[in-house]
Amino acid sequence: MRADHETDVVVIGAGQAGLSAAYFLRRAGLPADTGFVVLDHGRRAGGAWQHRWPTLRMDRVHGVYDLPGARLADAPGGGDATRPAAEVMPEYFESYEREFTLPIHRPVTVSAVYREADGRFQVVDARGRTWLARGVINATGTWDKPFWPHYPGRGDFLGRQLHTADYLGPEPFADARVMVVGGGTSAVQLLTEIAGVARSTTWVTRRPPVFHEGAFTPEFGREVVARVERTVREGRPPGSVVGVTGLTLTPDVRAARDAGVLARRPMFERITPSGVRWADGHEIDVDVILWATGFRAALDHLAPLRLREPGGGVRMAGTRVVGQPRLHLVGYGPSASTIGANRAGRAAVRELLAEFDD
Ligand SMILES: Cc1cc2nc3c(=O)[nH]c(=O)nc-3n(C[C@H](O)[C@H](O)[C@H](O)COP(=O)(O)OP(=O)(O)OC[C@H]3O[C@@H](n4cnc5c(N)ncnc54)[C@H](O)[C@@H]3O)c2cc1C
Repeated sequence: MRADHETDVVVIGAGQAGLSAAYFLRRAGLPADTGFVVLDHGRRAGGAWQHRWPTLRMDRVHGVYDLPGARLADAPGGGDATRPAAEVMPEYFESYEREFTLPIHRPVTVSAVYREADGRFQVVDARGRTWLARGVINATGTWDKPFWPHYPGRGDFLGRQLHTADYLGPEPFADARVMVVGGGTSAVQLLTEIAGVARSTTWVTRRPPVFHEGAFTPEFGREVVARVERTVREGRPPGSVVGVTGLTLTPDVRAARDAGVLARRPMFERITPSGVRWADGHEIDVDVILWATGFRAALDHLAPLRLREPGGGVRMAGTRVVGQPRLHLVGYGPSASTIGANRAGRAAVRELLAEFDD
């Protein structure tokens, strides 16, 4: 068995989850490169944050948990709530990578991970380079896998269709009739921005939105995590966080709701060339359909390991994939938040190093 590089642990992805894992590997004394490497598809530091729409300012993100060992507020420009998250967070990550001299290789797109006969992993990138490793911590997030649901007639629509992942700000929607699809936080944030410039907005969701009135207490957060944990323990797909938390009523969201921007309609039945039609025959014309329909875990490169259960989920015990020694998923399911990603990074390193000792 030959490979271009050999190491103990390959971490795939350098977002919050991957950097947290890298920090704890470093702290456990693993040397750079021979002990662990981080392979990241991004051209620069920042994980998914570098791709967030430019109008998403730090004072409109949900609350970002510090990476382990270095506070965001202490990073250059970290305290400025009026700047875009797509600038502040990559700067923070970059200074973090430098401070802890993390062995991050980029851009490296991992295209496949195989299990060798001796139990080690062969990690292959899109250029055919290979890394042989005893353990893998996968931290590839969701941004690379936008989810576009299928509705009849989608291909016939003559207007513009785009996904949250393509959104760059409200200006292109000036004077347009815009339909936003999806019941999550992104849908609500984009609607509130676009409503300020569009001729009209329409919001459609599968289920009536539930707004979370109370404070987001630690107890509530723990209950949310516990529910998603149960889901992945049973091997079911983790689903959306908002499906569990409800939508947070920030002052902006409250104002939009009071202004009637968040008057929601149920899902249409089909898309027509000029708009959409509901089951009762009602039709409207729109110029743009914006699919704020979320993302899925970016796990295609793990396909050779055959992790998927029949329902499409991955059966997990904590960060460990059940039945797959020394393979951990972080930032997946219950750890798909900045605080969860931090904790998962630490837990995965602790467990993986214990598995090495077995
Ligand atoms: C619009 C939006 C706003 C959000 N706001 C918040 C918030 O305010 N607070 C919060 O806690 N959470 C928020 N989240 C959730 C947030 O994305 C996660 O909490 C966290 O930042 C994700 O970190 P991650 O490390 O799992 O993934 P990412 O940040 O997505 O990092 C994954 C990394 O892996 C790389 N990668 C992917 N595939 C490959 C591959 N095959 N090979 C190599 N590298 C690969 C990517 O390039 C990327 O650098 C938000 C999510 C979205 C979509």
